[in-house]
Amino acid sequence: MSIESRNVTLYCPTCGNDQFSCVDVEIDDLSDAPDDTRIQCVDCKCIFTKAELIEANQDVINANIEEVKQELLKDLEKKLKKMFK
Ligand SMILES: [Zn+2]
Repeated sequence: MSIESRNVTLYCPTCGNDQFSCVDVEIDDLSDAPDDTRIQCVDCKCIFTKAELIEANQDVINANIEEVKQELLKDLEKKLKKMFK
């Protein structure tokens, strides 16, 4: 059975898959599970703890924020250049 996380989609740091299965116990909601709960990627079969998975995804989240920031800055630069033409 796969874990549905309600608010955040966690991705496998190895293959990018977002479907995980439980290793030790059945979990209905990953956000309620303890940090050392082990979960397995259904695709590449890698096993992570919840904490590891969140940490790995933190990088993805931060990278996304950085990307968006760069895009916003570029956009702003374009607008400013147009303004002063
Ligand atoms: Zn995987």
